[in-house]
Amino acid sequence: MFVTRFAPSPTGYLHRGHAFSALAAHQAARVAGGRFLLRIEDIDATRCRPAFEAAICEDLAWLDLRWETPVRRQSEHMADYQSALTRLEADGLLYRCFRTRKEIAQAMTSAPHGAVEAFRSAPLPAREEARRLAAGEPFAWRLSLDAARQRLGGWQGLTFSDSGQTFTANPEPGGDIVLARKDVGVAYHLAVVVDDALQGITHVIRGADLAEATHVQRLLQALLDLPTPTYQHHPLLLDAEGHRLAKRTGAESLRALRERGMSAAELKGELGFD
Ligand code: GLU
Repeated sequence: MFVTRFAPSPTGYLHRGHAFSALAAHQAARVAGGRFLLRIEDIDATRCRPAFEAAICEDLAWLDLRWETPVRRQSEHMADYQSALTRLEADGLLYRCFRTRKEIAQAMTSAPHGAVEAFRSAPLPAREEARRLAAGEPFAWRLSLDAARQRLGGWQGLTFSDSGQTFTANPEPGGDIVLARKDVGVAYHLAVVVDDALQGITHVIRGADLAEATHVQRLLQALLDLPTPTYQHHPLLLDAEGHRLAKRTGAESLRALRERGMSAAELKGELGFD
């Protein structure tokens, strides 16, 4: 059974780019006679707002999309992400990172190879770590690429399909990524991978801005023995100046389009859907 999802973060209003992703996934599910799920990715309580979640549902209903209920809201499932984290830790794949943002920024400017080098901080010596823990210093959990490489014997088994082509994941450019943030307790990549598996997602259809994320998500699937969905990253919509649409650069929201009288049919036509 074909199962896909639209997984927005309620950190702002949806714009045309989101509408395109949601319509593409919805249409693919319809054509395949499969299921379309909505997932609210709200683990970051510092940025997500219930009002934006309500607005997402309103906008998708306006586009005449139908999704299954109950909707999975990530903030209600922190225990699932925690158990994945506990497993990775028990397997010796994580280490604590006490660096502050400022320290990381400094390390990045001074590192000879830039970001990758900086995000490959090794675990601290045991005594130093114990001292910092005893002092109550906050820390993030990072995935050790060295430990992961050793465990898997290299990356060559990490294949995935994106838009019909087969790729082998290369998680190296991301460095030792954070899997549990100091402030939030879990990071995006881990939550997505756990949820895609728990919800039985067979097809991930999303914007090309997330194509890079697939490499590390594929690695996490291998480390957690989770299935790998088929991926399809669609090109991003651009504004008149050729910049990708983004909340933070003020892309016109769907509700603004609606308020100035655009109909859902007009928008769908413009985006190439019927
Ligand atoms: N929540 C992510 C976002 O809004 C999308 C995650 C995904 O589709 O994998 O950018």
